[in-house]
Amino acid sequence: MIEKEAAEKITDTMVKFIDYTGKCLPDDVRGKLDELSRQETIPLAKIIYDTMMKNQKLAIDLDRPSCQDTGAIQFFIKCGAKFPYIGELPALLKDATMRATKAAPLRHNCVETFDEYNTGKNVGTDIPSIFWDIIPDTDKLDINTYMAGGGCSLPGKAMVLMPGEGYEGVTKFVLDQMTTYGLNACPPLLVGVGIGTSVEVAAVLSKKALMRPLGSHNKNARAAEMEKLLEEGINKIGLGPQGLMGKNSVMGVHIENAARHPSVIGVAVNVGCWSHRRGHIVFDRELNYVIDSHSGVNF
Ligand code: SF4
Repeated sequence: MIEKEAAEKITDTMVKFIDYTGKCLPDDVRGKLDELSRQETIPLAKIIYDTMMKNQKLAIDLDRPSCQDTGAIQFFIKCGAKFPYIGELPALLKDATMRATKAAPLRHNCVETFDEYNTGKNVGTDIPSIFWDIIPDTDKLDINTYMAGGGCSLPGKAMVLMPGEGYEGVTKFVLDQMTTYGLNACPPLLVGVGIGTSVEVAAVLSKKALMRPLGSHNKNARAAEMEKLLEEGINKIGLGPQGLMGKNSVMGVHIENAARHPSVIGVAVNVGCWSHRRGHIVFDRELNYVIDSHSGVNF
């Protein structure tokens, strides 16, 4: 495939994929909302879940966004070092974001900091955000798209705990964020926790944790146990759907971690809302693609 054709194929597919993920929640999120709805006994909570489901159906039927805040666009990429179009990707993804903004349409959510004007295109300085992992010896391109809404970005926080605070300190940090800001992020939430040495490592890991499918667990058994305990603890706050009380506060808690300096724990929280617009697409070097976040989708 010649370069121009390849560029158009990647861009065109990503325009359609960004558009689609803004309107249709991934299979795991829809399944979890349905499961949590069935667990509710409080009448108001049930009504809110029913309304969420109805809104999701209408979003598809009427070709409208799942939520009016279509977020700042973020891409989490695992790119094989042998993927042939690696150098072109930043420009292609920027172009795809701009075109999806018109085609979908997406709300204009890119304001140039300090100059304080909206670009009107959802692209600007370092937006869309692209987070790279380069994977040796493969020629695949693995992309998670994410729409970072204002409300669900609000509880984000990172800090380095004082020596000796330990995992109890991690728990306190997460629960403090959920009891103070969780309400603002349109529960039930997906809570991502990142743990490493310093704040930037923890922050990126906490966001990558939100890219994991619901129902997945950290591969370390102790971390997986902590995910479960945090989920139980945050559910006991009883935020319920849209923070109006209910049996559950979260769709899940995901922890991602790195090894760290022995004297400190850097910890971060990032949150996804009930309208968790994540999409996962994998291209091969011929630009055939597989979408596994949304069943039955092909453009
Ligand atoms: S938190 Fe999520 S559901 Fe709520 S307004 Fe923001 S994007 Fe929409």
